[in-house]
Amino acid sequence: MRDFTFKTYKKLLEQILASGYDIQRFDDFILSPKDKVVILRHDSDIWPNNDLIMSEVENTLNVKSTYYFRVPETFNALIIKKINNSGHEIGYHYEELARHNGDYEVAIKSFEEKLNQLNSIAKITTFVRHGRPLSKVESLDLWKKYDYKKYGLIGEPYLDVDYNKVLYLTDNGNKWNSNKTNIRDKVNVDNNFDINSTFDLIQHFKNGLLPNQIILNIHPARWNNNYIIWTYRFFLQKTKNIAKILLNMIRNKK
Ligand SMILES: [Zn+2]
Repeated sequence: MRDFTFKTYKKLLEQILASGYDIQRFDDFILSPKDKVVILRHDSDIWPNNDLIMSEVENTLNVKSTYYFRVPETFNALIIKKINNSGHEIGYHYEELARHNGDYEVAIKSFEEKLNQLNSIAKITTFVRHGRPLSKVESLDLWKKYDYKKYGLIGEPYLDVDYNKVLYLTDNGNKWNSNKTNIRDKVNVDNNFDINSTFDLIQHFKNGLLPNQIILNIHPARWNNNYIIWTYRFFLQKTKNIAKILLNMIRNKK
């Protein structure tokens, strides 16, 4: 069985539920976190159609998750509405400060505009920063100067979660434990799990090896049932991983 297909994704969800975890949207987790819970945080970086397919897989198991959309890159009103209508949370995947080269005033104005655009389709209360590996500007810094609560927002996964308590795993780099290759969607806490595939992750759930609260950062665009696209991306990712390891080594030397 190939990894990172929607079929494998469904198997993962089934195991999470079989292991006695609840699955919560990020907004619900912020408001009233369950004790034994998995949060599915989806970053929509490209190809919103994949978000729709992933949400439909979740619908078959009555699972609710959170989809963060970029504006304008993955802003597709029809798809966003469809996903939202089946009970999933919609959030904003922002990158204003990096996009505007550290200009705070332009960035906050743009943030407001784009948030409004999304809000016209679905009520937005949580948001998460899109990581740009080649930018030196950190978009999270916008909140050192401004207060996001002013916009009706209640939570940002990089700012409002204690990763000493909540395990964070990301599919970045086509594996699950990729702190070596992950520049983009990293949290500040390292974990000791060695999980190299989704099958591995499923096994960890099955054996009860994981803590009670977990956030899975999943990029729907990385998941596919199409063999040709899958093969192409698999090899592209291998090349990218090597490049990222080198980039991380250079950065760590500084
Ligand atoms: Zn992103």
